[in-house]
Amino acid sequence: MSTTFAQEKHIRASFFHFMEDPNIESEAYQFIEHGILTVENGKVKSLTTFEAFQTSHPDATFEDYSGKLIMPGFVDTHIHYPQTEMIAAHGEELLEWLNTYTFPTEIKFKDKNHASEVADFFLKQLLKNGTTTALVFGTVHPQSVDAFFEKAKQFNLRMICGKVMMDRNAPDELLDTAKSSYEDSKKLIEKWHKKERLLYAVTPRFAITSSPEQLQEAGRLLKEFPDVYLHTHLSENKAEVEFTKALFPESNGYLDVYQQANLLQKRAVFAHAIHLEEDEWEQLKQHDCSLAFCPTSNLFLGSGLFNLQKAEELNIRVGVGTDVGAGTSFSILQTLNEAYKVTQLRKAYAKNPSDIKPLSALKSFYLATLGGAKALHLDHAIGNFETGKEADFIVIDWKATDLLKLRIENSFTLEEKLFALQILGDDRVIEETFIMGNPVKL
Ligand SMILES: [Zn+2]
Repeated sequence: MSTTFAQEKHIRASFFHFMEDPNIESEAYQFIEHGILTVENGKVKSLTTFEAFQTSHPDATFEDYSGKLIMPGFVDTHIHYPQTEMIAAHGEELLEWLNTYTFPTEIKFKDKNHASEVADFFLKQLLKNGTTTALVFGTVHPQSVDAFFEKAKQFNLRMICGKVMMDRNAPDELLDTAKSSYEDSKKLIEKWHKKERLLYAVTPRFAITSSPEQLQEAGRLLKEFPDVYLHTHLSENKAEVEFTKALFPESNGYLDVYQQANLLQKRAVFAHAIHLEEDEWEQLKQHDCSLAFCPTSNLFLGSGLFNLQKAEELNIRVGVGTDVGAGTSFSILQTLNEAYKVTQLRKAYAKNPSDIKPLSALKSFYLATLGGAKALHLDHAIGNFETGKEADFIVIDWKATDLLKLRIENSFTLEEKLFALQILGDDRVIEETFIMGNPVKL
């Protein structure tokens, strides 16, 4: 018996995944009610019907998840691991919330042991919620990123993280300098980028906390390491936009601050992008940048309502982000729940409400899987069950709670069931999370 054969396994369940954006392609997804996924050496070998599998493999054994739904692991395109312990902090908008709650919490990550403990807790929360890949903020401390990647490596996860670059407008204990942020980030890139499944993101927090010199250093890193990511915040809150304009009077708006430092590129991911000017939308499109739509955070901090429809019209890459700790849940399902409500609320403020289309269930699950993978330029590796992709997937019990069970039993189409799942589901419906074909023990 060859070792290859020994590492092959078959899993029976219902399967659901996307090949394309459902807003673009009518046959964008595949749903196989009685299916078999074959995984070999941690990668997808095939996905077929149970009937076809029985014909070709009459004597093969399989792991049986009949009645359960398997889909690719969720992708979270914006989250802060150091903010785990301060989720659900009351009463402020962005800038006050940062000063009151976030910065004091992030100071604790100077201690590597503390960072390791929180990273372990954080990753387990992601996995319990079915999230298998995330784009993650560390703190200003390089050891916070070491701690994160060490833990992510233990779980063999595909994760992206970076050290915050921040040299002004924050407590002294959290400040680096333009020079040290360049040097520390460079060392971390050399140490971690593309090590196993790990990837690095150059991470200036946002325009307000970086000097023009530091943003230039971020641009220098992107030039020297062209396949790393750029991860930051953009136009989340009106006071933030005004403060940014005051700090950079020579710039033509918020996005232009980043543009002048050469940060706009195809692996740039901007979180929020709520209060954009018309020309900023165009610039984001021109540079093929990605946006992270973070509805629970945007509602929690009262930041505003992201214009998903506009991003779709311009064909800008979008993923969903939980943005914990301003976001209120690690669950991508709960994030999709709030995303739907954001699109509904936009109608209340629209000149022509009938022009606003509520987010569909299909589009929601696309954003959570293949859409998120495309936003992170990882769709060659994750996001669906195409042959050769890394076998990160989740087993969903869509009868996990009495209420969801009742609702599913009274749903007739796949879309109805998916919508009920995104509105009523959370970590309770995630029965198992598989990484590279193996169930994770939590
Ligand atoms: Zn954030």
